[in-house]
Amino acid sequence: MTKKTDPGTSVLAEDSAPPDRLADVLGTVRGLYDNVVAPREEALRHRLDDERQFLDSDGRLHPEIIAARREIMRAAGEAGVYSAHLPEHLGGGGYGREDMIYIEELVYSYGVGLNPALLSWSEGATPRLLFAHDHQRDEFTDPLVKGQKTSLHGVTESGAGSNLFDMKTRATRKGSDWVLNGSKAYITNYFDADVAQILAMTDEGGGRKAFTYFMFDAREAQKNGYRLGGLYQTMFGDGYTGEIHFDDLVLPESAILGEVGQGFDIAVMSFNYTRMRRAGMCSGWSKYLIEKSLERVTSRQVGGKPLGANQGIQWMIADMYVDWLQARSLSLEVARAIDTPGPWHRIPRPADEIRRICALKVSNDESFYRVADRALQVHGGAGVMRDTSINKLFQIARNLRIPGGTDEVQRTTIAESLGLRFDSSKTSGAATTTKKEG
Ligand SMILES: Cc1cc2nc3c(=O)[nH]c(=O)nc-3n(C[C@H](O)[C@H](O)[C@H](O)COP(=O)(O)OP(=O)(O)OC[C@H]3O[C@@H](n4cnc5c(N)ncnc54)[C@H](O)[C@@H]3O)c2cc1C
Repeated sequence: MTKKTDPGTSVLAEDSAPPDRLADVLGTVRGLYDNVVAPREEALRHRLDDERQFLDSDGRLHPEIIAARREIMRAAGEAGVYSAHLPEHLGGGGYGREDMIYIEELVYSYGVGLNPALLSWSEGATPRLLFAHDHQRDEFTDPLVKGQKTSLHGVTESGAGSNLFDMKTRATRKGSDWVLNGSKAYITNYFDADVAQILAMTDEGGGRKAFTYFMFDAREAQKNGYRLGGLYQTMFGDGYTGEIHFDDLVLPESAILGEVGQGFDIAVMSFNYTRMRRAGMCSGWSKYLIEKSLERVTSRQVGGKPLGANQGIQWMIADMYVDWLQARSLSLEVARAIDTPGPWHRIPRPADEIRRICALKVSNDESFYRVADRALQVHGGAGVMRDTSINKLFQIARNLRIPGGTDEVQRTTIAESLGLRFDSSKTSGAATTTKKEG
């Protein structure tokens, strides 16, 4: 990984100046980066810059990195940054989607070290907590919002990805309890989570009402019928994604998140959030890559002149800028439209908003991927080396087009909302009503 520059001094600073109203929170983020993140990155440089030391001997994320991330989460929680996206009544910062784009953009502009731990992501205080009950507040909501605990989100199964209705995990009533059976695949933070949020089918054939969320202590459940499965070796070597299994896991009624039958709506709301969050993440990382590429093509001499003196290279840099700017502009436009009627987590959501959220995700994921691809290209052989931030971000960019609903799921949902929704029993078309749509 290469040295970090303050994103405020970026050549793109004027193109992406945040509004004055966010000066305090962005100042807090900068302070957290300088005082909490940067020293830990320095101390763990040998692990962050070498994938063999990034993982432990079992291929899992190294415990020292996990510990550092947890320290950063807690510090960001105390400073009111970690859960800035959640409403104040949950202990969050109450920021809307537009403001969050600027906050996320700054956090990700620092690159690909420990900085992402400053903000809650899929292993933290997810918007599903909006459906937590009062009796779940002390054990789950408060510690997750403050960054004191981490969570996992179990929806996908080995046989059920893009289509929720393929799900095989079942929860059945037994007296006043529920019994959970099945398994989940591709689960982020699967072995280190304190809290599990699991979607299961509780009423097969019940349409949108067929699903229910359960939230419980993931460590305690391992004494019961909850089992960790295998670790997946992802292309970006996160050491953090794997399987979990439920064999007659008995859960009390109090484990239900929201209401019985509300799981589909909660899932869709949280997929929408995941999609909208791409905006600041992809913009921040694209800015970082543009900066690094500019540094490289001005310093690298090829044939007696800077690489960047060649028009072919200049056009690649220009295309990176155009990709970044168009995705960022679209994101801000969509975020303003979502914030205006507000709140961003409302259910149900009108079709035109769903369509724009899908457009935001597909635009960001694909633009960022093109930016990362060009960044690697202008770095030449150096970009192909695995232990570089350029290469790592290229791997991450390719991955982002899969989770949270794939590129195809976004396009199908956009097309359906424009009127191309057909009865799938009568057509062989891709447009069905059961995708991870949002
Ligand atoms: C690193 C990583 C982390 C993840 N973390 C989590 C997590 O924490 N929790 C969780 O629940 N899940 C997680 N996932 C799972 C992710 O959400 C799924 O991989 C994703 O939804 C796609 O499902 P699938 O892999 O089963 O692909 P499939 O559904 O098998 O789809 C395969 C391909 O076919 C396309 N396709 C499918 N149906 C259609 C159609 N009708 N028309 C056209 N194209 C179609 C898809 O777009 C995709 O490109 C994670 C995945 C990854 C890679």
